[in-house]
Amino acid sequence: MRLNHRALFVACVLSGLMLSAAGCRAGRRVTPGADPMLSVRTLIDAPEDFARRRVGSDDYSIPPYAKFLKGVRICLNPGHGGDAHKRGFKRGPTGVREAEINLRVAKYLREFLVVAGAEVLLTREDDIELSYEERAAIAADWNADLFLSLHHNAIDNKPQANYTTVWYHGDVDYRPSNLDLARYLCEGLLDGLRVPTITDVPLKSDLLMYEQGFAVLRHAKMTAALTESSFYTNPAEEQRLRDPAYNLREAYALFLALAKYALAGLPRAALVEPADAVIRGGATRLVFELDDGLRSRKAWGHERTMILRDSIAVRIDGERVAHRFDDDGERYTLVVNVPAGLAVGEHAVEVQFQNLNKNSVLNPHFEFLVE
Ligand SMILES: [Zn+2]
Repeated sequence: MRLNHRALFVACVLSGLMLSAAGCRAGRRVTPGADPMLSVRTLIDAPEDFARRRVGSDDYSIPPYAKFLKGVRICLNPGHGGDAHKRGFKRGPTGVREAEINLRVAKYLREFLVVAGAEVLLTREDDIELSYEERAAIAADWNADLFLSLHHNAIDNKPQANYTTVWYHGDVDYRPSNLDLARYLCEGLLDGLRVPTITDVPLKSDLLMYEQGFAVLRHAKMTAALTESSFYTNPAEEQRLRDPAYNLREAYALFLALAKYALAGLPRAALVEPADAVIRGGATRLVFELDDGLRSRKAWGHERTMILRDSIAVRIDGERVAHRFDDDGERYTLVVNVPAGLAVGEHAVEVQFQNLNKNSVLNPHFEFLVE
């Protein structure tokens, strides 16, 4: 439908353009995209195979230790999306959208991870809106080992600000493996992006921002962290973040970080007795088999204990309980005494430990039923 001049003039004003009335009268086409604060596709265009053609090249080589990512299930969550119609929302000074940066970095990161053998799921492939709960549920339903939310930072009235932060949920003890993931990611970003300034403690609790923390991290059921790699409100950084080569550099930094995290071993626990997690008939113990994330590699010295004994802590319903730890050179066994008189019903048990690289167990939380 053709707009008459009057309607066109109104459209000019509504879209917030500084076009003169003369411009309107000249019949200049006005679309919502003409307002940089409402525009989409705000990044420098890159061919579809931009990352794929570079992954594995000299500048973006796959290090041998990346093989330890094989089979690790990593859910990448590009922050925001579907929000271009909110004028100026999560945009840099010239209108570059954070949602687009996050998505491109996630897609490039996937290219690296897949080559290394990791299994990867993105919470969104397109410019769509998802709630925080939906994002966390996508990761949980897919049974992700790691959940990584990718963001870039913003601050009002402080265009000079530009530094890297990585965020974990809650207090430091909430889930120790979150700190491992966050620490590796942070070191990777500091080395890879070399953003010119630094905040002196770049690992941050999300409780600093909100009373309940970030919803996406609070709802995460697995090891999770959130990166704020740099500030798109910094004019120079905004321009770098439009550039596919810089997005690839960030993705590579995150990839190397995840590979080093995997190299250090991703410990896990499994409840083996009672196998159905039901305590009945006067039974008094739970038995876990621990995996240090390293022994199965059968490297020289793998029979030696690679779990730090003093790092082992077991809690039932939040209270520390006694345990016995055994290592026969093949298997680690953790026997937990269930306190007498535990009420009939559901109970939570948390098993914490670290391997020799001080990586904490990925899955410390279990439930059992007392009949
Ligand atoms: Zn964000």
